[in-house]
Amino acid sequence: MSNVPVAVVTGSNKGIGFAIVRALCKQFPGDVYLTARDPGRGQKAVAKLQEEGLHALFHQLDIDDLQSIRALRDFLKEKYGGLNVLVNNAGIAFKVHDTTPFAVQAEVTLKTNFFGTRNVCTELLPLVKPYGKVVNVSSMVSSSALGGCSRELQQKFRSDTITEDELVELMTKFVEDTKKSVHEKEGWPNTAYGVSKIGVTVLSRIQARMLNEKRKGDHILLNACCPGWVRTDMAGPKATKSPDEGAETPVYLALLPSDADGPHGQFLSNKTVRTW
Ligand code: NAP
Repeated sequence: MSNVPVAVVTGSNKGIGFAIVRALCKQFPGDVYLTARDPGRGQKAVAKLQEEGLHALFHQLDIDDLQSIRALRDFLKEKYGGLNVLVNNAGIAFKVHDTTPFAVQAEVTLKTNFFGTRNVCTELLPLVKPYGKVVNVSSMVSSSALGGCSRELQQKFRSDTITEDELVELMTKFVEDTKKSVHEKEGWPNTAYGVSKIGVTVLSRIQARMLNEKRKGDHILLNACCPGWVRTDMAGPKATKSPDEGAETPVYLALLPSDADGPHGQFLSNKTVRTW
């Protein structure tokens, strides 16, 4: 088993994830795994970094596929006995003008952004070693979507006692409510992406609390963040940040020094803790 520190970035064959891997290759003292659901796209991305003189390793990971997540888990367990840095970056968004029915958009978006991310956490968080870092890439849209929720929902999503099961129930209810076309009546905002990212931010707050309760002595720091508005296939060419700039806050959180006792359980943008 290798004692080399190891970092894993989900959805990193392009966009912000790719830029996070590039930065970690330069700054993280260990093995950096670029992961992708499609091995061809993943290997191509590794080769691109190689041309820049950077050495990333590749492992397949489709966060929608539990078997794929578990294969990565088993690999990390066997080869490294765990992992040191996990960046949950993989995500999807329908384009604003996409005509796919809203209920379908809700189901598909929540499946990857919330349920897929959660499944990765369920399988990989127990493997995170002491002084490890976990970064969940959310979005400022989670904050604006929270503002668009009913007072009752806002209260639940801001609660310091909400459980993961309760959060899963709420995310499931959103999808069901869209199918019945009652989501607005039920207090939800009209954004599937926004609700999925509320899920990611609230999940991060819950996970950080659980780490405090169950693994306090391990000094693991877990946070959610927004990369900013970044020029990628998701956000388009008009966005204000380059992918490398978008990677800055996630990488800052992934590389917090071992003597740092925070941030933890926070939502950050531009390396600054934001009020939730
Ligand atoms: P992007 O260019 O579309 O890249 C998304 C990445 O996620 C791709 O590598 C994609 O792989 C991967 N992915 C999607 N579904 C996956 C799955 N089921 N399993 C594994 N990988 C999967 O988007 P981006 O702008 O870099 O976004 C990265 C993250 O930042 C997302 O979580 C996004 O919500 C968040 N974010 C972005 C912005 C922005 O302005 N760009 C703002 C706020 C937050 P494929 O190539 O196979 O599709």
